Amino acid sequence: MSKVLIIGAGGVGGVVTHKCAQAKDVFSEICLASRTLSKCEAIASELDRPIRTEKVDADDVSDLVRLIRDFKPDVLINVALPYQDLSIMEACLETGVDYVDTANYESPEEARFSYEFQWPYHPRFEEKGIMGLLGSGFDPGVTNVFCAYAQKHHFDEIHYVDILDANGGDHGYPFATNFNPEINIREVSANGRYWENGAWIETKPMEIHQTFNFPEIGDKEMYLLYHEEMESLVKHLNGLKRIRFWMTFSQNYLTHLEVLKNVGMTRIDPVTYNGTEIVPLQFLRALLPDPASLGPRTVGKTNIGCIVRGIKDGEPKAIYIYNVCDHQECYREVKSQAISYTTGVPAMVGAMMVVSGQWKKTGIFNMEQMNPDPFLEQLSKYGLPWNVVELDPKSIPLKV
Ligand code: NDP
Repeated sequence: MSKVLIIGAGGVGGVVTHKCAQAKDVFSEICLASRTLSKCEAIASELDRPIRTEKVDADDVSDLVRLIRDFKPDVLINVALPYQDLSIMEACLETGVDYVDTANYESPEEARFSYEFQWPYHPRFEEKGIMGLLGSGFDPGVTNVFCAYAQKHHFDEIHYVDILDANGGDHGYPFATNFNPEINIREVSANGRYWENGAWIETKPMEIHQTFNFPEIGDKEMYLLYHEEMESLVKHLNGLKRIRFWMTFSQNYLTHLEVLKNVGMTRIDPVTYNGTEIVPLQFLRALLPDPASLGPRTVGKTNIGCIVRGIKDGEPKAIYIYNVCDHQECYREVKSQAISYTTGVPAMVGAMMVVSGQWKKTGIFNMEQMNPDPFLEQLSKYGLPWNVVELDPKSIPLKV
């Protein structure tokens, strides 16, 4: 039986806490700590067993170390913001605790979407005898594990991967983001990028798009974006020729975003207003609906998965692996919409893999480096079942 410390009481933190509480045979004690104690207490009040709640400043290594030394967790799940990744990793190193997160480190000043800051921790984690599991959400996370599963069970060589992320949900607001608005808007307003024949190819934001018929959702326009799991997958898949990431957006969302960008509201550099420095994107975040509040009003489904093409026994082969998740079913179960749910379940399962010893290693690892089978088994059990469909490799349902 293990003790888990969860940092961050936002949309994802709520789901992780519910799911750890459900896994009674794995996590005997749970502590949820975040910047605002009342948010931890609100989540704790929804559970059917008692947990500990604490206030912590995750930017402050000494405050984290104080809490870790007092609670003595076996594993820490970081679902605060990507800005806190490095301070939390430092605290894990100082105290010898395994680390799990769902998003790569970002500096508040510059959006890089890169593992360049976290991968160099490998020798220090190895020497300390602890594990850092990076990107244990859905994408990154389950999408990496889908690729590892395809490589292990379906292909001798993987040539093409297309990761497809559709949100067919409707929250009824003119404009809102389904996870932290600051991180979300930084991601979608950046240039697009994909990897082909060993090189990254850059596109303008939203330049490449096509309509795709998503199972259980229907036709949606999806746009090519850069997404962080591609950086590790190009290192770890055999024979890869191209990998791309696609996400759906409604025309309404894109129009709002364009206006916000044109008027400067998505800037991440500080501007002076009435003698006070403010970051426009952080101010915008304060105006938009809290993603954690979207749960009761969001209807519809998400569909996230991978179309993988390659060679098996000398023959061309193609498969589509995906999960469909229903916003309202998530809300009924854990009081959250499907975006937080599809991130929080794999974060808990990743931590479960580490503490159960099934994925325990020393150093820093991405999800596709681990055995996909026990993870996928628990993923289904804890609410995210997945499908594998064989496609005709000569007529893939992708236009470009
Ligand atoms: P939220 O903004 O809803 O929650 C973040 C939480 O972290 C808040 O409770 C916030 O506190 C807390 N926090 C922020 N700064 C600090 C700090 N310095 N010390 C302590 N606590 C702090 O975000 P989400 O729940 O939507 O997202 C959480 C993480 O999940 C993000 O890193 C996001 O990028 C990632 N994510 C990953 C996905 C994947 O598939 N891999 C998909 C979606 C999200 P307060 O409440 O006081 O603001």
